[in-house]
Amino acid sequence: MTRVDTVVVGLGVMGGAALRSLAARGLRVLGIERFEPGHDRGSSHGATRILRLSYFEHPSYVRLLREAYPLWRELEAMAGRRLLHITGIVEIGTPDSQLVRGTLAAAREHDLPYEILNATELMRRHPAFRVPSEFIAVAQPDGGFVEAEPTLAAQIALARAAGAEIRTNTTVRAIEPRQDGVRVITDSDAIDVARVVVAAGAGISKLLPDLPIRLRATRQVLAWFEPRQPDVFDAARCPVFLIEGPHGTHYGFPLQPGAGVKVAKHHHFEEVVDPDDYDRNVSSSDEAAIRAAVADYLPAANGKLNAATTCLYTMAPDGDFIIDTLPGEPRIIVASPCSGHGFKFAPLIGEIVAELATNGTTTRDITRFRLDRFA
Ligand SMILES: Cc1cc2nc3c(=O)[nH]c(=O)nc-3n(C[C@H](O)[C@H](O)[C@H](O)COP(=O)(O)OP(=O)(O)OC[C@H]3O[C@@H](n4cnc5c(N)ncnc54)[C@H](O)[C@@H]3O)c2cc1C
Repeated sequence: MTRVDTVVVGLGVMGGAALRSLAARGLRVLGIERFEPGHDRGSSHGATRILRLSYFEHPSYVRLLREAYPLWRELEAMAGRRLLHITGIVEIGTPDSQLVRGTLAAAREHDLPYEILNATELMRRHPAFRVPSEFIAVAQPDGGFVEAEPTLAAQIALARAAGAEIRTNTTVRAIEPRQDGVRVITDSDAIDVARVVVAAGAGISKLLPDLPIRLRATRQVLAWFEPRQPDVFDAARCPVFLIEGPHGTHYGFPLQPGAGVKVAKHHHFEEVVDPDDYDRNVSSSDEAAIRAAVADYLPAANGKLNAATTCLYTMAPDGDFIIDTLPGEPRIIVASPCSGHGFKFAPLIGEIVAELATNGTTTRDITRFRLDRFA
């Protein structure tokens, strides 16, 4: 191994993005991952993640998303393959639901294109949905999905091509600030570097016991249903969707040929787990929590369960991201843009982390993601 100046711990989508952006700036960077990139014990595996421009969580995300979209296009061009699928998105609920109110507020504040559909118009235009008459839908043309695992693979390949080194199946045990740098202790050696990016997802709390907040790992479940009427879920007729109702908030995608219709419940059971030891089997109650919404709102997808799997959300206490340096330790950068909605920002997060690493500051407004908001 050549001498490196920066270590990135964790090669999920955020570590991969950071590795690529750091290598592209000419830093000598090493990425360390305890499994193989694309493994299924973190947050970044699987086929798809939703991308949307108007943002029900908070309007301030829209500015960042406007920057993220062109970076996705740039990543696609560099990877030489398609990663983005703009299908449009419908966000469905009662007019006073958090989803509908939040999306509309963000769209209006940022003057984004959208349409409001009443229940009849929604079901006429997109026959996959069956919703009560009091529901409405906010339709945004810019929504869609990104291909998750191909994104991971592209980032890693581009980082390598730009000179990054990668060590897989290696666990970082400790990160120790020292007078002249930071020591990264793995299960096989110790590496002294100028700075460390900790993008270890649900592993961050164990690695950084002095982090001023506790990140919670929650177990999530994804399910693929065999549609009874596949044609209504074709991407030409069915956009990506989110639905808030008495069963909670569910989301899903157009038909993935060969796999089925993917539907999941956002914040499944809010079940906090040990990320190193949690149940990765999918139970009948897991399936029931998703099927309840499928039966009510997507009856044409209510066929047999083709597949189901688990995934982790790394939750900050307020549901926003953590992107900052450790208090009093500017050589350690923490990047946990998760809380269940970070993937769509990945190429931008890589740039922000690289700016923090090289300049100690970033041109993007990350006030909302700073650790001092918890003070
Ligand atoms: C079910 C599900 C659905 C989602 N849907 C969406 C969506 O539709 N749209 C969206 O924008 N976002 C979505 N997200 C969120 C998004 O996927 C996450 O924000 C993102 O994947 C977080 O990536 P990460 O790199 O921070 O974490 P991870 O992917 O968990 O990566 C962290 C990596 O660090 C490694 N690691 C941990 N500890 C150590 C250690 N000590 N040493 C070495 N390596 C270590 C882990 O093995 C892991 O590979 C979803 C997430 C889930 C789980």
